[in-house]
Amino acid sequence: MPAEAADLAGTPDAFQRLWTPHRMVYIGGADKPADDSERACPFCSIPGREDVDGLVVARGALAYVVLNLYPYNPGHLMVVPYRHVAGYPELTTAELAEIGELTQGAMRVLRATSAPAGFNLGVNQGDVGGAGIAAHLHQHVVPRWGGDANFMPIVAGTKPLPQLLGTTRAVLAAGWAAHSGTTAVAVPDATPEEG
Ligand SMILES: [Zn+2]
Repeated sequence: MPAEAADLAGTPDAFQRLWTPHRMVYIGGADKPADDSERACPFCSIPGREDVDGLVVARGALAYVVLNLYPYNPGHLMVVPYRHVAGYPELTTAELAEIGELTQGAMRVLRATSAPAGFNLGVNQGDVGGAGIAAHLHQHVVPRWGGDANFMPIVAGTKPLPQLLGTTRAVLAAGWAAHSGTTAVAVPDATPEEG
């Protein structure tokens, strides 16, 4: 007699599907840029794309907010200066101020839309510091929930994520104006999916 799902151990939870990297939106794969130049840099090319295609959530004057294509958690955002600059000390005072403001805005929007219990904020500097794209600085904003560090990444090399990236972008962009407290501009989807 074939097993039915109802006969197996476990109860349904919030994970609706396993995330798979089916949308190679801005790097075309897990590969790093060919070199450290602006021409090869995804963070330099993303602002030239449509927001939906680039997974851009909001645009300020000196920096923008974008979803991470390889998120640690759903809603993992990055705040990125438009200028191709690697080191935190190289940022201007104005860039620092806007990156800080957009980081606050990203946290407010995530709190309003998905109620995380906490956050990790951070800038990895250099390859040895863990930066995936070291040539162009980016500030991570990672929402955290209790129990989110589960066994799946360890045993399966797979991170279960409850929303596909395009849907997550639509939710965050739609909530940006109301919740971010910033003047950065967000372009909502014409018909955002239900999350
Ligand atoms: Zn760049």
